[in-house]
Amino acid sequence: MKISKLTPQGYCSGVKNALKIAYEVLSSPTYPRPIYLLGSIIHNQNVISDLKKKGAILIEEKGKSRSELMNQISSGTVIFSAHGVSPIVYEKAKAKGLTIVDTTCGNVLLVQQQMKKYLSLGYTCLYIGTKGHPECEGILGISSSIQLIENAKDLKNISSSKVYVTNQTTLSLFETEKIYQEIQKKFPDVIIDNKICKATTVRQQACLNQEKVDLCLVVGDKASSNTKKLALACQSISIPTLLIEDVEDLKTISLEGITSVSITSGASTPDYIVDEIIEYLKRVD
Ligand code: SF4
Repeated sequence: MKISKLTPQGYCSGVKNALKIAYEVLSSPTYPRPIYLLGSIIHNQNVISDLKKKGAILIEEKGKSRSELMNQISSGTVIFSAHGVSPIVYEKAKAKGLTIVDTTCGNVLLVQQQMKKYLSLGYTCLYIGTKGHPECEGILGISSSIQLIENAKDLKNISSSKVYVTNQTTLSLFETEKIYQEIQKKFPDVIIDNKICKATTVRQQACLNQEKVDLCLVVGDKASSNTKKLALACQSISIPTLLIEDVEDLKTISLEGITSVSITSGASTPDYIVDEIIEYLKRVD
């Protein structure tokens, strides 16, 4: 079996930074205990399990916002994830006297700053993102006047002569481009500020530029936005694609007749998970 590892793949700089900080905090006696992770610091359950073993307490509940989750924390240290948080989350943490450790990625901070700037200049601000995603929650929490655009239909009731639009950092390159084209058609003078980050861009481009294979394995957490978009990129060039979390997922899949496999992984997938998958593929070949 021919196995090709697409590059780049795996941890992005934002995830590496967030994890480095989280592990430092957990190993340092100077941070007040308990130490909470407000939502998964990255979308990867293997990594979260390891952080829990080292003493972190994960506060997460399906359907609850990070602002609501803050109500469950009353003392100690709170770690904000690379996705960023809304101003209300910050205010709640401060009001409770918590020690705040903010690992928000610089790319996300830039989107937050730009959004605040254009709101203050009186623009109608649009944000292309995925409802419920923590990065999106952090941005929408800046102001109730920011309008979430998940697809072109969401533009229907918006009318303004002064429009600014930006987006979640981990979206699909081609899907976002399509929405931007629709926005440009409706608002010719719009200020478009595409903020898909470089890590997301180069990983998707590697998927789009790959040679034809029988199967592409996209490795990552099923809740990870950038991982799902990698799978979408591979499917868009008609390559049969599977999103798997780890080697155990792969063991349940028949590889009969597969002679070539490519592998990529999301920005929150540790290298060792990909290495285990490659070792397994070599063994079953
Ligand atoms: S995917 Fe991009 S924006 Fe998100 S943490 Fe990584 S570098 Fe930052």
